[in-house]
Amino acid sequence: MYLHYMCKNSNKKIKKINICEETNLPPDGWIQGCIWCKIPTSKTTYYKTYETKDVIYTLNLHLCKDCINYKILDSSKNIKIINNYIDKYYLISCGSNSTSTSL
Ligand SMILES: [Zn+2]
Repeated sequence: MYLHYMCKNSNKKIKKINICEETNLPPDGWIQGCIWCKIPTSKTTYYKTYETKDVIYTLNLHLCKDCINYKILDSSKNIKIINNYIDKYYLISCGSNSTSTSL
């Protein structure tokens, strides 16, 4: 039986998190600030899945139409900034598995 790998994952909770920039908008509303330019937007883009010992986080970014058009997620420099933001405000260190901690 080779089911142990699947069973290992089945106990985990799945948490969906929409990452947005802080605005004056109601925190539970559809429209939140774009992570990049703070313009209110209802658009979300799948970003990544981050797994801890007992939780699987599905991270979505509030990203407005313009920022999607500008492909800001195609730049590794921008990705780094977003990862730092998520780390700081959502306490999910989703960028820390890269080996870029040299000072
Ligand atoms: Zn934007």
